[in-house]
Amino acid sequence: MRYSLAIMALLALSLGCSRTGGSSLTKAEKALIDGSGPVMRVLTIADRKDSLFLRKACADFSDRDLKTKRYQALAGKMVTTVTDPSQDGVGIAGPQVGLSRRIVAVQRFDKEGEPFEVYPNIRIESLSGDVVPGAEGCLSVPGLRGMVPRYTKVVISYKDASTLRTVRDTVEGFTAVIFQHETDHLDGILYTDRADTLTAYSY
Ligand SMILES: [Zn+2]
Repeated sequence: MRYSLAIMALLALSLGCSRTGGSSLTKAEKALIDGSGPVMRVLTIADRKDSLFLRKACADFSDRDLKTKRYQALAGKMVTTVTDPSQDGVGIAGPQVGLSRRIVAVQRFDKEGEPFEVYPNIRIESLSGDVVPGAEGCLSVPGLRGMVPRYTKVVISYKDASTLRTVRDTVEGFTAVIFQHETDHLDGILYTDRADTLTAYSY
């Protein structure tokens, strides 16, 4: 089990996009960010077009795009969306708001005040520790919960949007699980692909 998970993780990484420079935002992507209100529409697998979009591998942001007010607006809107009472999630990824870009917002339960933070061009560099099953749900998969085996420790890398430097961070516990769930989205993987069991859930 542990071995096959490691293979899957490696596969996910290899399916990701090149590390060297990202492509510029397209006209349609700019229009999506600019035209959205503070709470963005969340794509779900209930819609066929959305579900195909959620399976796409994402591209990195270009350095130039990371320095824009538009990028800051996107980061703010993703946090507003995931924290909105209609969603009330602990993390959200670019494809979930209709953007096939490597970006996630994650609630850092391992930090004082449990803030949401946004990570562009993020990747998981390594997975370690035990593999432990835990309950997960997803804003894009309404009405389901599942038990998913995840590593207890991850090393992430991402681009600091203000310095444009690549930053590495080691994360453990529940927050490490959120990072694994959200970065999976960037490779078109949903937690239902990895779940041992799935059960219907009503709010
Ligand atoms: Zn999700």
